[in-house]
Amino acid sequence: MSCPPPRRSLGLKAGVGIAATLLIAVPTYAGIASADSGVTSADGALDKPVSPFADGHPAVDNLRPELRTAIRQAAADARRDGVEVLINSGWRSRRHQQHLLDEAVATDGLEKARRRVNTPDRSTHVTGDAIDAGPPEADRWLQRNGAAYGLCQVYANEIWHFELTTEPGRPCPPQLPDASAG
Ligand SMILES: [Zn+2]
Repeated sequence: MSCPPPRRSLGLKAGVGIAATLLIAVPTYAGIASADSGVTSADGALDKPVSPFADGHPAVDNLRPELRTAIRQAAADARRDGVEVLINSGWRSRRHQQHLLDEAVATDGLEKARRRVNTPDRSTHVTGDAIDAGPPEADRWLQRNGAAYGLCQVYANEIWHFELTTEPGRPCPPQLPDASAG
């Protein structure tokens, strides 16, 4: 995308203001619903990251209970290490998942989109078996310690996506390259 040359009438302050507005408008993590999608919190959409201990969010409430328990235990222990674990995306309705896929396909085309967004039929978010955790510091904590709770990073290209894929205390299985594999 090309930018027009700066106009003299735009002072530095105005330019900064426009840049800040643009930054705010760009979603920075998966799972945010765009305003016109029709997808709501009832579909598991989150307009900001939430604590795994929070109630009243279908994205958290509809997780498989074992997964919710595991991420809460992990988050409590991470907090003792000074790391706050948040959930950027958890359970999603089929409609929400399809919308995310449609958006990714519109941006990247089908093949590239499928490496990071699964179909509703294959997505473990739709079954309540996956969480996208953040911020990156929390992802790194879970990479190091998640297996103690049964939590494993599943896809090599998604450091934030964790599922219960091992018995607590056992090693995690080898990662798949991306969401289009397996
Ligand atoms: Zn995910």
